[in-house]
Amino acid sequence: MNAGASHTGRFAPSPTGPLHAGSLVAALASWLDARAHHGRWLVRIEDVDTPRCVPGADALILQQLAVCGLVSDGPVLWQSQRDTVYQQALERLISRQLAYPCACSRKDIVQALAAQGAGKPRHGELVYPGTCRPENGGLRGRTARAWRLRMDPAHGPVRWTDRRLGEQAQDVATEVGDIVLKRADGLWAYQLAVVVDDAAQGVTHVVRGEDLADNTPRQILLQAALALPRPAYLHTPLVRDAHGDKLSKQTGAPALDVSDPLAALNAAAACLGLSPATGEVSAALAGWTGAWAQRWGMAAAT
Ligand code: GLU
Repeated sequence: MNAGASHTGRFAPSPTGPLHAGSLVAALASWLDARAHHGRWLVRIEDVDTPRCVPGADALILQQLAVCGLVSDGPVLWQSQRDTVYQQALERLISRQLAYPCACSRKDIVQALAAQGAGKPRHGELVYPGTCRPENGGLRGRTARAWRLRMDPAHGPVRWTDRRLGEQAQDVATEVGDIVLKRADGLWAYQLAVVVDDAAQGVTHVVRGEDLADNTPRQILLQAALALPRPAYLHTPLVRDAHGDKLSKQTGAPALDVSDPLAALNAAAACLGLSPATGEVSAALAGWTGAWAQRWGMAAAT
């Protein structure tokens, strides 16, 4: 193994549809970052939110990636097969009194917040008012619906440095609140699954779309609660449609056309500020790896 072999990056698509032009940017950036570090690049299929998953989308995504020359260096991980591991993580948090059961419906939360005179902060996300916290009386005979992570209001802002966006800070306890770890429908929350799996796969460098940057501070707190290492983070620019909206499967972004993989890769590379390439896909990827290494201050890959 060479010196950088412990560097591990990953691409973690949700199989809610095929890759679109925006998701290829994150895939390419994470791959280049791993190669530029002489490290490994892993693919993880984030299929915990089963109602949103589309049958066959996982195979299609892997095929789209492969046509673009992006192939996982280790076994692909499917989150839907990792129930036991997530349960163990939840139990660890419960035993440390960092997780507690919650009986509140969305309506209960809205009513409790209204009673406190609180508005709707941050993207309409509700900051849980702590109704079911043990010190507030716990479930009080109601049936548990979800599990939440206890955020410490005394913690203050979580500070982290994004490799592209620079210094970031967020007071998770007041701006986000006690996040859900296991949902009322019995499904694992993205935050728990991503933190457990990044650690389980030895991920040292997370490279993903900027729309996910906002999740980083809560993931950092969850890593600390589970005594897991904190990876480095780099959030990539988003691809926008003609209206300036982020491309996403939800807003009907078309599937990535890989009939001409170099054209697809060139579009993704342009979004990352890399020059267009001609010729073979493998040569294009090698050229961009060198450019990436220079841009982010690494020795060129060999
Ligand atoms: N599965 C998430 C998505 O497709 C990405 C999660 C991550 O990279 O942390 O949006």
